[in-house]
Amino acid sequence: MSLLLRGAITLFLVAGVTAGAGYLARALMYAPEHQALDAGVAARVDGQVQSMLQVQLAAGAVAAVLGLLFFYRSLSSKVSRLTEHVQDLRFDEGSLPDSGVRGKSGVGLLGAEVDQLVHRAEEGIRAREAQLKHLRETEERQEATLRATGDGLWDWNVNGDKVYFCPKLRAMLGEKKKGATLNRTEWIAFIHPEDLEDFTVALKAFVSGETPTLHIEHRLQRKEGDYIWTLCRGSLLRSPTGAVRRVVGIVTDITAQKEREAQLAHEAMHDVLTGLANRAMLVQQLNQALGRAKRKNHKFGLLFMDLDRFKVVNDGLGHMVGDELLKGVAHRIQMSVRSTDTVGRCASTVARLGGDEFVVLLDDIYDVLDAIRVAERVQKNIMEPFSIPGHEVFTSTSIGIAMGDVSTESGDELLRNADTALYRAKAQGRACYAVFDVEMGKRAKKRVRLENDLRRAIEREELALHFQPIIDLKTGRIASFEVLVRWNHPEFGQVPPDEFVVIAEETDTIQQMGRWLLRTAARQTRAWQERFPHARDLDVNVNFSSKEFLHPNAVEAITEDLREAGLAPEHLRIEVTEAVLMKNAKEVLKRLTTFRELGIQMAIDDFGTGASSLTHLTRFPVHMVKIDLSFVREMHASPESLQLVRSIIALSQSLNLKVIAEGVEEEHQLERLKGLGCEMSQGYLFSKPLDVQAATRLLESDPGW
Ligand code: C2E
Ligand code: CA
Ligand code: CA
Repeated sequence: MSLLLRGAITLFLVAGVTAGAGYLARALMYAPEHQALDAGVAARVDGQVQSMLQVQLAAGAVAAVLGLLFFYRSLSSKVSRLTEHVQDLRFDEGSLPDSGVRGKSGVGLLGAEVDQLVHRAEEGIRAREAQLKHLRETEERQEATLRATGDGLWDWNVNGDKVYFCPKLRAMLGEKKKGATLNRTEWIAFIHPEDLEDFTVALKAFVSGETPTLHIEHRLQRKEGDYIWTLCRGSLLRSPTGAVRRVVGIVTDITAQKEREAQLAHEAMHDVLTGLANRAMLVQQLNQALGRAKRKNHKFGLLFMDLDRFKVVNDGLGHMVGDELLKGVAHRIQMSVRSTDTVGRCASTVARLGGDEFVVLLDDIYDVLDAIRVAERVQKNIMEPFSIPGHEVFTSTSIGIAMGDVSTESGDELLRNADTALYRAKAQGRACYAVFDVEMGKRAKKRVRLENDLRRAIEREELALHFQPIIDLKTGRIASFEVLVRWNHPEFGQVPPDEFVVIAEETDTIQQMGRWLLRTAARQTRAWQERFPHARDLDVNVNFSSKEFLHPNAVEAITEDLREAGLAPEHLRIEVTEAVLMKNAKEVLKRLTTFRELGIQMAIDDFGTGASSLTHLTRFPVHMVKIDLSFVREMHASPESLQLVRSIIALSQSLNLKVIAEGVEEEHQLERLKGLGCEMSQGYLFSKPLDVQAATRLLESDPGW
């Protein structure tokens, strides 16, 4: 518009200047002649001037039009050049050219402006391109990383309802590979209901900054309906103001790892052979039962069982058969426990503790009768023969039962109680059960105490030896001393030797005790022999338990101890009970022969108490027989006892064995024994067992009976 205005003004000026110039020319050229010429001439001249003026005016107008035309042409060409330039601009082809439209005119300035604008736009576009490239590369890198790790990714826009699942994550979930944007409800539907709360809490804490990381394991449902275990690690994207805009979750499939863990956990809690729970699992279940009992005041029972002859099967038929038997037993116990006709609401755990030891935990039962019913059923089922390829195996089980309730202190205590009851059950014979009671508990506690204290007493040599004389009835003199061990317990006082000797045997401390005892007794006997001439041939009777007698090193140990004490083997008499001889007849026979060859005298102790018959006397290469004190005591009242004593003496004499009668307390007993031809005797009638000093005094006095 202003361009047009300026053009018109210019045109006007050009026309004006042209007309003005015409008038001026006329005034200058014709003024003198005008004054001199006549009116006609003047009129003619005026006319000429007038026509000239008109020509000039016309020329001026033509010039103005031409000028206007020229002006318009140059303006429109610049504008169209600029238009074309702008239209031709291509931002993707290198650096952009200038329009070339310049000058002081408005269009020229416009051209410069346009060029500047274009260059600025070009710079902006280049910068955006570089940004985009960087972004693409980053995305590619991320995708490559995810591909390499096999991880998936979700991207949650915190302020919106949308979460993006990347293709990999979708693939993990069994969906078609394409990525997808889900809403919150769809997102949540993937998460396992049991894990949802934890996941939500963790996510919230992460977004709020309460926790520095998001690291949570949870399950996601696959399209097929099954679940995969995932580990989700999160990262926050913030706006320039620091507000959290997005959360990106890296999702790793850890299903395989979880399965491995579960497998390991299973193995850690189960017995490999039978698949039953192991001790760790049992203890766990026991503690849970204990917790429930405390909260809900209900009862639970524990059956502790072992097979009665497992060792025989294992040793006799081999470990393979043993293993099969254990598997079969495990199965039958499970079957017996599962049939819930007697134990209504009970939940049970069957465990194997190792070897042939099984435990059943009966949770939430009414009373001990429930436990007894299960025990009886287990015993009945186990009595049935087991068919193991190539064999038909019979076995039976002894069961100890203990009940737990609110008052039970620990699972351990209950296990101990059931074990104690089992011990009692076994003492009753095969295939029995026993229920733990308080008395049993007290005894068991004392026993544990004794076990520990005895071990210490043996190590510290706190036991004492007592000596009871054995009298040669022909001479009436002391022929030997039987060594009897004594233990004065600081709390329980004198503990009967038959009680603690059994403990020593079961805890394998008997060896240590026996060595000490034999060494001490041998030294003492040797010392007496040297000190008292009338005791030159004094013997010593030492009791040997089965384990001591059959110990692989027994022969060497005894030989060494005797040599060290300087006591001749002929002066040692080893007493083993009839029961020991009967149990391992073959091995015992070998041992007896070896000892005999060494010159040691062998005596059968407590003869007549075992189930053996007199004929056994002929089988064993022994030197003497000790008639058990029970027969001596009953001899005068019981004709059978008297008859037995008579027979033992008669048979022994015919076999050239010496007979010692134990427990002689009365004179008439002694007389009767002498009458029967008994050669030696021992008992309170002569002397009670004495300590070293008293025995020394007795020996010194050289008594005669
Ligand atoms: P045992 O070998 O039959 O020992 C004889 C037991 O009868 C001793 O009991 C003794 O004190 C007791 N006795 C002796 N004379 C009489 C009597 O006239 N009347 C009565 N009522 N009893 C009499 P103790 O000392 O209590 O020993 C009991 C058992 O302990 C022994 O029976 C023996 O089996 C075992 N024992 C004792 N000391 C040892 C030992 O050093 N080693 C081993 N392995 N066992 C031992
Ligand atoms: Ca004895
Ligand atoms: Ca005896």
